[in-house]
Amino acid sequence: MYKIGLTGGIGSGKTRVADMLGEWGASIVDTDEIARALTLPGGAAMPALAREFGPGAVAADGSLDRAWMRERAFADPQARQRLEGILHPLIGHETERQAQAARGAYLVFVVPLLVESLPRWRPRLDRICVVDCDPDTQVARVRARSGLTEAAIRRIMAAQAARASRLEAADDIIVNDGATTPEQLRAQAKDLHDRWLTLASATGR
Ligand code: ADP
Repeated sequence: MYKIGLTGGIGSGKTRVADMLGEWGASIVDTDEIARALTLPGGAAMPALAREFGPGAVAADGSLDRAWMRERAFADPQARQRLEGILHPLIGHETERQAQAARGAYLVFVVPLLVESLPRWRPRLDRICVVDCDPDTQVARVRARSGLTEAAIRRIMAAQAARASRLEAADDIIVNDGATTPEQLRAQAKDLHDRWLTLASATGR
């Protein structure tokens, strides 16, 4: 199957683009969604996380206490490594399972940290598409959709790849900055969708 890696910083618009591609017939495997499902109440990662980090990591409803975990992971690189040591193999396994089951016109992996793990992802993908956005717009969008403070959002952004290195890895770029209307975003996504359909059928996979 023809494989696209879709990435971009937090708030860039990845999910919005992936939703449109899915509507038009692509199969979507969203690694962020997989990570979230693993840490919901009863999620497959919860027993190991509770064992590793203690009851403080678990919210009253049995899900991962994200605010607690975020603080720990930022303050202590070893805690971050332990967290990733639990989550990454589970995310990888479920990503693979969903990819095997996919039956769409082509397959889109939504991967927030794709550029941060480029050596692992590049050989698995036919193309990398970056949704590009200026930092101030990222902050404004994430503030509007979450309870995070500007400082917390900027800290997450600082831990992600720089805009320039993301663009360097891109085969295709969708511009979705503060001046981009939803219609303009949709038009860019549709152009790429059409191009990828052609490429997918030309490779016969
Ligand atoms: P990501 O998945 O990259 O974090 P999202 O797709 O969730 O980003 O987009 C972040 C927020 O910004 C969402 O609420 C989304 O609807 C909104 N958004 C994205 N692009 C635009 C745009 N061009 N115009 C208006 N709102 C947008």
